Amino acid sequence: MRMKTLTSRTVIFLILILLFAIPRMLLAATGIMGALGEEIADIRKDMALENTVTVAGRSFFVGKCEGRDIVLVKSEIGKVNAAMTAQILIDKFNVDRIIFTGVAGGVDEKLKPGDIVIATKLAQHDYGIIQGNNLTVNSLLIPRDGGKADSVTFFDTDSTLAQSALDAAKQTQFKELSLARYGKHYPVVTSGIIVTGDQFIASAKKREWLKKTLNASAVEMEGGAVAQVCETYRVPYIVIRAVSDLADDIATDTFIKMKDTAALNSAMLVENMLKNMNPPSGSVENKK
Ligand code: SAH
Repeated sequence: MRMKTLTSRTVIFLILILLFAIPRMLLAATGIMGALGEEIADIRKDMALENTVTVAGRSFFVGKCEGRDIVLVKSEIGKVNAAMTAQILIDKFNVDRIIFTGVAGGVDEKLKPGDIVIATKLAQHDYGIIQGNNLTVNSLLIPRDGGKADSVTFFDTDSTLAQSALDAAKQTQFKELSLARYGKHYPVVTSGIIVTGDQFIASAKKREWLKKTLNASAVEMEGGAVAQVCETYRVPYIVIRAVSDLADDIATDTFIKMKDTAALNSAMLVENMLKNMNPPSGSVENKK
């Protein structure tokens, strides 16, 4: 009798798990974010659009790109916009990974405008304590079950997605970059630390500080916020950034001239990542 009760309980439990898990498996798509229109334009053009859903004023483009289910969205600039958008992708669209594609200021001396950085880690460079004129970057607390919290300064990106970005780079026919000051060249793709803050950095002095304090390769305004949301929900993510400027005193001018081509190259790399991705479990392709 007791045995029978346990068995029926187990069956009900299994049915409940399947009821929750199967729709999630079937629906799991890759979330793709950019902050600016230029950053998502190419993927929007190439994707087969199935549906456009508006949440919190943002258009979420649902469809397929390179045969993969994606949800593409422009977050707008800054950490709060980026965090909200990542949260909506996870909550409402059930994405099982997030790829951020866009442009950034190059901080590493070796980087030229147009080069691409795949994030190994991200930090929020404007979170901390000011004493006098000095900012000390602090760790962020990530709440965990049972009232605990993890203290994080650098958020690790997903190593599989990072490797898939490096692999995709080798297959991508990038557009050549051309700017009098830096000459003509094709993007060089490297891995490095990307730092995030609610500031467009156009200051050689601050650029130096970012390098010295956080060993930054590049600086932007969204990645570290996406990282915090994804870390909290344990959703794998990667941030890919093409250098639009060098975050120095002339960054505003360089940004205007370089952003379109840089954004396009980053998006093309992401499309090749999608091409190489294993079909999501439960998808039609997997069942063949
Ligand atoms: N003048 C532009 C500002 C864009 S902000 C406008 O008003 O539209 C720059 C965007 O590109 C942000 O989304 C940020 O993530 C990235 N970015 C590029 N270069 C940057 C830099 N030097 N510092 C910070 N963010 C940068």
